[in-house]
Amino acid sequence: MKLKKVLTKEEYAKIRYKRREAACFIYYRPADGQYYIGKTKYGEPVSDDAQASVYLGSSLPVENGVPKDAICITTCHTHTPFLDGSFEQEREVGPSKGDYAYLSNGDESNYGIVLDYVGIFVQGRGYYIFPGHNVTDTPQMYIYYNNGRITDKYSFNN
Ligand SMILES: [Zn+2]
Repeated sequence: MKLKKVLTKEEYAKIRYKRREAACFIYYRPADGQYYIGKTKYGEPVSDDAQASVYLGSSLPVENGVPKDAICITTCHTHTPFLDGSFEQEREVGPSKGDYAYLSNGDESNYGIVLDYVGIFVQGRGYYIFPGHNVTDTPQMYIYYNNGRITDKYSFNN
């Protein structure tokens, strides 16, 4: 039996459009001058306009599958699309308040990386994605800082 047929359109959308974030630590290893990407970790899947998040846990190299003499230099995480057009909450793109709160536990040179969409500019408010947008909308990498420096944006254009 197809799920699509036994559920109402709204119920099906809730399952189909569950969202979850992914994250990892990034390391530098002086011994070989290489960068290493730690294990990818996933957050709980959420529905509707619920806030998605991901818990990174320990940054110890050995617990993240990288050489034990590598040094953790930053984190990278994704934000989720809003593919379900049945709710009305838009989302501002780029680093969230929670992302800055995570940084503020460290020293002021700390920074983080988030992968999100470019978004649509809303006069006087900033850049947002809206429910029902396309998953392949233009992505962007944001580097955000703990010292008040303006967020850097990097596109993935070829
Ligand atoms: Zn975030």
